[in-house]
Order: sequence, then C-alpha cells, then structure tokens
Amino acid sequence: MNLQIKGRVAVVTGGSSGIGFATVKLLLAAEAKVAFCGRDRGRLASADAALREAFPHAEMLPYCCDVLDPQQVGRFAQEVGREFGAVDMLINNAGQGYVAHFDATPHEAWLREAGLKLFGVIHPLQAFLPLLEQSDIASVTCVNSLLARQPEPHMIATSAARAALLNMTLNLSNELIVKGVRINSILLGMVESGQWRRRYQQRQDPVQSWEAWTAELATERGIPMGRLGKPEEAAQALLFLASPLASFTTGAALDVSGGFARQL
Ligand code: NDP
Repeated sequence: MNLQIKGRVAVVTGGSSGIGFATVKLLLAAEAKVAFCGRDRGRLASADAALREAFPHAEMLPYCCDVLDPQQVGRFAQEVGREFGAVDMLINNAGQGYVAHFDATPHEAWLREAGLKLFGVIHPLQAFLPLLEQSDIASVTCVNSLLARQPEPHMIATSAARAALLNMTLNLSNELIVKGVRINSILLGMVESGQWRRRYQQRQDPVQSWEAWTAELATERGIPMGRLGKPEEAAQALLFLASPLASFTTGAALDVSGGFARQL
C-alpha cells in the first residue's frame, strides 16, 4: 500500500530504540525524510549507524535532545527547519512507564510521570507547530497506552498520566484542525521492549525460549492473542495515522493491544 509520504518530513521523538526506532525504519522504507531524537548519544549513534547501513541514500537527522527540556526541543525544531523545511508528521513516542502500586509511589514519581506524559507531547508540539502549519498533510501522532482507559493498580501513576494525555489530545484535536493539523494516538498494550528483554534475562528457567517466556507472560496477563506486540506492529499503526491514509481522522485513539482492551 502506498502511504503517500515519499519525500515528506517526519519527526520521531525517542527514535533511537524500540517502537521509535521501528517507526523511523518504516518511514525511511517509505522514502520519507526523518529527524529523530533521544537523550543518550551512544544509543543515537548506534541507531544512526544501523539505519545508514540499511538505508544508505536516506535523508535523516539524529539529534540529541531531552523532550522534557523546552530549550533543547526548540533547538531541535530549528535544526529540522533548517535541514528539511516544513514538517508533515510529528510522532511523539519518547518515554517509559513507572511500575508501582499507590503505597510505593512517592510524590516525585507522581510529578515525574505527569510531567513526562504531558510535557513529552506539549514541548514538541509547541516547538514544531509553526513547521507543521506549513504542511498540507500535517499530523501529530502520540504513543499512548491502554492504561489511559483501563488503569492497572501496579502502574497507578502511569495510568493516571496516560488518561490525562488522552484527554489533552482529544481536546487539542478541535484547536489544531483549524490550523490544518490532525492529532491522533495509539493505545498500546504490552509490546516487546528492552524492559521485557531485561526481565527475560532474569527468568527462572534458563532454557526457556523468548517466545515461550513471552507467550506465558501474555497468557498470565490475559492477552487474547497470547503474545506481546512487536515494535513494528506499533510502528505500522503510527504510520497509518500519521499518513494521508488517515486524512479524515482526528482525535482518535487506535487500540494496538492484541485484544486486551475491555471497554466498548
Ligand atoms: P524504549 O525504551 O525501547 O524506547 C524509548 C525511546 O525514548 C528511546 O529512544 C529513549 O532514548 C527515548 N526517550 C526516553 N525518554 C526520553 C526523553 N525524555 N527525551 C527524549 N527521548 C527519550 O521503549 P519502547 O519503545 O517500549 O517505548 C516507546 C513508548 O511506548 C514510550 O512512550 C512507552 O512509555 C510507550 N509504551 C510502551 C509499552 C511497551 O510495552 N513497550 C506499553 C505502553 C506504552 P534515551 O533513553 O536515550 O533518551
């Protein structure tokens, strides 16, 4: 299927690993120009090297930037504007979750989670909006979690912050569409990531394969598809919403949870 993004410009926050990295790869495969950021220079350099090997003719811009620092994000946007001009797709992916029940969640963790989930989107949106407004297919697509609608007690702060982000993106959709910008989200369940790889290293049965271990985890958690999602599956959903294939969709949240969602 033609995603209609050849030669178009995408920005991916948290593009050096996991879902963000898979998204950058899909964008480059569709011949888009891609700028992506992360905080760790080493991880960014490794991602850049792997991408240049896979896509030797691609136009891309890796940039070291913390999305929680508005000055850094502002400089990132300036650099993207200088290098590529207008931005067609902003994909807000940077972040991580916080695992703890209420009685083990300190004040700072509540603030950190709320800050990360909201300002991780607010800062890039503020910085890139003038460049998005120059595009005729502008979109913002946010990685969110099913926790926004289906909270879990062992991730109480993340669940609350995810719900706030979902609320904000729906609210923003009316204001942004006046400027010609669509905004949508994906709601993830459990996706294979560094976090799960690290837990696998500590498994009780040393001969158990990754596939068997993740299948057991998925069954324990009640994921009907019986496995975790793959970063590429999250990336495909992001690309659909970001591309002109979703040109009449804004304010939407697309479930990517392997059937884990339990609301109408
Ligand atoms: P990874 O840890 O593999 O990737 C996270 C990426 O974000 C890295 O590139 C990381 O680079 C970057 N990043 C993190 N914080 C910042 C920051 N403040 N500024 C800039 N970059 C940052 O995780 P995943 O791919 O699994 O997760 C991607 C998104 O999906 C996250 O928002 C996560 O919360 C969400 N999600 C994931 C789920 C899962 O099961 N995997 C489930 C639900 C939601 P660096 O550390 O170098 O900055």
